Amino acid sequence: MTEGEGFRCWGCGACCRWPGHVYLTGDDAAALARELRLPDREFADRYARLAPNRAGLVLALREDGACVFLEGDLCAVYAARPKQCRDFPHAWRVEGACPERPLEKPRPGGDGANA
Ligand code: SF4
Repeated sequence: MTEGEGFRCWGCGACCRWPGHVYLTGDDAAALARELRLPDREFADRYARLAPNRAGLVLALREDGACVFLEGDLCAVYAARPKQCRDFPHAWRVEGACPERPLEKPRPGGDGANA
């Protein structure tokens, strides 16, 4: 379990199975290549794909649609996970992506944050 900003992650892995893509910045790809001790090109060939908008790279998906780095319910590259993953669910979230932190409607006079 990890905690931060009032959020407790129980490691269910739901956010890593949610349909969609993890977009990679150049720094993300370099950090993951370092973590895996792979040359940048080999990392990209093995673990990344062209983004649907063709503007960059996304992490590859397993056949079941989960992130290629999800092992059981845990992230195999947690220390070097991309910014998009580090920002979730604090900077962004979508309905149903995190059972521990459901999307709430903004409270009257509040900013909509769940923390
Ligand atoms: S890189 Fe890790 S945290 Fe990000 S979606 Fe994949 S398994 Fe989840």
